[in-house]
Amino acid sequence: MLLIDPRQPMSYTSAQSGDNYRNWWPHPTMTAFTNDSIDELDRLAEESDNVFQMSRGGYVLATRRDDITPILGTISDGIDVSVFDRRDTIRSRFPHLSDDIRNVVHIRRGGDISGQQMGQYMLEKIRAAGGAKMPGSVSAIEQNAGYRLRVTTAEGTKSVRADTVVNAAGPFANRVAGQLGIELPIRNVFQQKIAFEDHLQAIPRSAPFSIDLDSKQLNWTAEERGLLEEDDGLAWLADELPSGTHCRPEGGARGKWVKLGWAYNRRLSDPLEDMANEPAIDAWFPEVVIRGAAQFIPALESYIASPPPRFSHYGGYYTMTEENWPLIGPLDGHGAFIIAAMSGFGSMAACAAGKLCAAHICGRELPAYAADLSLARLTNGKLLEQLAAAETRGIL
Ligand SMILES: Cc1cc2nc3c(=O)[nH]c(=O)nc-3n(C[C@H](O)[C@H](O)[C@H](O)COP(=O)(O)OP(=O)(O)OC[C@H]3O[C@@H](n4cnc5c(N)ncnc54)[C@H](O)[C@@H]3O)c2cc1C
Repeated sequence: MLLIDPRQPMSYTSAQSGDNYRNWWPHPTMTAFTNDSIDELDRLAEESDNVFQMSRGGYVLATRRDDITPILGTISDGIDVSVFDRRDTIRSRFPHLSDDIRNVVHIRRGGDISGQQMGQYMLEKIRAAGGAKMPGSVSAIEQNAGYRLRVTTAEGTKSVRADTVVNAAGPFANRVAGQLGIELPIRNVFQQKIAFEDHLQAIPRSAPFSIDLDSKQLNWTAEERGLLEEDDGLAWLADELPSGTHCRPEGGARGKWVKLGWAYNRRLSDPLEDMANEPAIDAWFPEVVIRGAAQFIPALESYIASPPPRFSHYGGYYTMTEENWPLIGPLDGHGAFIIAAMSGFGSMAACAAGKLCAAHICGRELPAYAADLSLARLTNGKLLEQLAAAETRGIL
């Protein structure tokens, strides 16, 4: 096995991941897929003495709504959840949440991992199994009784022969597929996060990954709101913003940092080699996400007037299909395969995705969801219609 990549493994999109995992999805296919991946993560955590620090705090979904029937409708069958609807219970179990939170749905099978440690552990396994790395970029693929890959490296162009090729090029998967004359129905949307040292200890270290399920307007003063509304480029900041502001402590019980995110961007990007130049990076994001999160975690409000002195603002591409399901399986009907469109779930789903692709390659028994997560889904009009009509696609 040869891993060809011009970058260090796990250094592009995978380095930007929030590293959260969950089996909470609106459709049972994605629940089954991520459950399989979490089973595998559990097994690897056990085998490695939890070298990648897998936690199981669950996901806390908070809402100000009294009627949570629509929320429960976004949770497919078989997901272990607890619902808390008494104010005193919510306050004692989740003291960081604001008093106006009326209902909390706690998704039990969720938490976080260290994706970088997990990747390192996997690389060691690849090495031990005889795999190798080749620093370089695949610039052409010729299919003729196997494959001949042209690889651009620092030492010049090299040629590699392969019986099987797996296109796992993340945001560039379409470019690599194009080398085989195939166009994939995927797009890239840049999403951002911030991380900072929580010197005010606004978030308890034991707080689970917490998500505000309500859309909201940010709390600007009347004067600020007026100024924003007058500015065409900024008026959106005075509008209703989508649900999904999220937050969690980073670095475990002894850590001091917190991570905040909000996948509100909808603009499509052509992925850049250097993400730092991405035009969708939004200078307002740090303030917007702190303001948004402070509406359900009030202790964060102090950071609006006095922003954290040191913070990192970063992001990466969600490489997605319209339905927000991945593409895993045969690519060209010969010996090329794909693992792509891992959107905002690629860290949690990596184990199941790799296993599924390997089963396709080796002709092993496939799980029931295999066809629906492959390119074959694009010919299943009924399924695509059903997914297009769904309330939510599980984007977070
Ligand atoms: C802000 C953000 C937060 C996220 N949070 C979470 C989360 O909490 N939980 C979760 O599960 N997921 C999360 N994700 C999603 C997750 O990070 C991605 O789905 C995952 O990292 C995608 O991995 P990948 O290997 O497909 O892509 P990448 O990590 O981008 O890897 C693709 C690799 O292909 C290489 N490549 C490209 N073109 C070529 C070529 N021509 N030749 C050779 N190599 C090539 C690139 O150099 C790169 O190293 C998040 C993503 C973002 C952006």
